[in-house]
Amino acid sequence: MKSPFTLLSPAEKDCLPLVFDSPHSGIHVPTDFQSNASAAQLKTGWDAFIEHLWQDVVAIGGHLLHANFSRMYIDPNRAPNDIDPALVDSPWQGCQPTKYSERGMGLIRRYALPDVAMYQQPLTRAEVEQRIASYYQPYHQTLATTLEQLHSQFGAVWHIDCHSMKSKGNAMNIDSGASRPDIILGDNDGLCAGAEFVEVVEQAFVNLGYNVVRNDPYKGGYLITHYSNVKANRHSMQIEINRALYMNEKEFTLNDNYFNFKKDLTSVANDIAKYVSSNI
Ligand SMILES: [Zn+2]
Repeated sequence: MKSPFTLLSPAEKDCLPLVFDSPHSGIHVPTDFQSNASAAQLKTGWDAFIEHLWQDVVAIGGHLLHANFSRMYIDPNRAPNDIDPALVDSPWQGCQPTKYSERGMGLIRRYALPDVAMYQQPLTRAEVEQRIASYYQPYHQTLATTLEQLHSQFGAVWHIDCHSMKSKGNAMNIDSGASRPDIILGDNDGLCAGAEFVEVVEQAFVNLGYNVVRNDPYKGGYLITHYSNVKANRHSMQIEINRALYMNEKEFTLNDNYFNFKKDLTSVANDIAKYVSSNI
């Protein structure tokens, strides 16, 4: 892994205050990572091909940031202190576990899959701090700086946090066993993005024939709550895409619909870019 992240930026003349980020695109794990879970089990948390599916956003003026490290090593879509104390070998007052840690999916995963523990023994605090400093923070600093620069240049910024979801949730997911829609848009029940913006994104998918649900069950995670401030014209929302639309979920290979679906996402990105252009 050359860098913990990749940032693709548009040509200066095309630049819009529009940032896409994909925190679960990475598959690489550093050499210090030793897990009980098999490579195939670790892969299930990978939002495979998401950075490729959205890559055309750069040609239309957006930035695209994606992680190169696996979320199974450390998850950028969690608060830096969302740590299950049971994962660390000594008491650590800084641990503030949330509902994600309770489900085994905090900053550092406790379970790869239901009943598949990630580690044979607890990690040291130094190991966790090293993951934060070398992988988590560089990703966040880059996202924060990009959003900040665009906001100061344009007075507003629109951020889309990109993910993919299994077509059916497992026992670690809040919608365990349920079949999922094509697209779930999360704006934390309207708190993280302006209503008009969310409407534009929803309509773009609906016009192409996709079934879209808002905030159920995914309202958006730490990335959108941390970086949004609607009153200050900082809008963040999450797009979850059903993996069955573009890949074979068992094999982690592209399916026959991949290129059609990618074309549709480029059309969605164009609608988003048009909205952003007309609001600056
Ligand atoms: Zn994800």
